[in-house]
Amino acid sequence: MCLGCVTRRGILAAGLAVLSSPTRAEASVEPRFRCVPTAGRRRVALTLDACGGGFDMRIAEALLAHRARATIFATAIWLRANPGPLALLRAHPDLFGWENHGAHHIPPVLGSGTLFGLRVAGTLAAVRQEVEGGAAAIQAATGRAPRWYRGATARYSPAALEEIPRLGQGIAAFSLNGDEGASLPAATVERRVASARDAEVVIGHINQPHRPAGAGFARAIAALAGQGVEWATLDELRPVLA
Ligand SMILES: [Zn+2]
Repeated sequence: MCLGCVTRRGILAAGLAVLSSPTRAEASVEPRFRCVPTAGRRRVALTLDACGGGFDMRIAEALLAHRARATIFATAIWLRANPGPLALLRAHPDLFGWENHGAHHIPPVLGSGTLFGLRVAGTLAAVRQEVEGGAAAIQAATGRAPRWYRGATARYSPAALEEIPRLGQGIAAFSLNGDEGASLPAATVERRVASARDAEVVIGHINQPHRPAGAGFARAIAALAGQGVEWATLDELRPVLA
């Protein structure tokens, strides 16, 4: 048997192994914010992801009715698909801030394969494209450069967590998961969000108008307003990664 044959067989075998093995995303982490309470106050930052898809008027109406401030984390694809909602919210700059949720809603995770059904970025170059493309879209839509980035799925490769701040974007984690990707029943979302403590950063979704979660989030906004909560932004709370 010649060496060349063995080598060719070895290459073929290796190729088949790659083709037949499931592709996997690199291990990722979900960073959390640590609440730094402000004495004698109850300040809450609502952050609402606009991943893609539509617009939840139930949440928007509750925010407007209670003059509740919120930060919208929008992707470029959501901004393109929702010019009406964008104009509606931008008419209230005192209430709504805009931050970066990426260009194409691609998880900032290295490796290959998918995470929660979304194909991961794969490389740091692709992470940079996702972050910078999202930032450019926010700048174009609002006239203001975003300061915070939240990745699709809110999970990150450790290398991405180091790289993203170098692009001028803080990692927008959260301390209270209000809706688990808009997957929870309305009553659960209402209970979770309405329990927000002082200095809490709450995550929810404003792009799923047909899911029950949004109804619960809207009711929680009314409940928090009724309890005299002060609405805050991320910059005001100055949260730190846990
Ligand atoms: Zn998202």
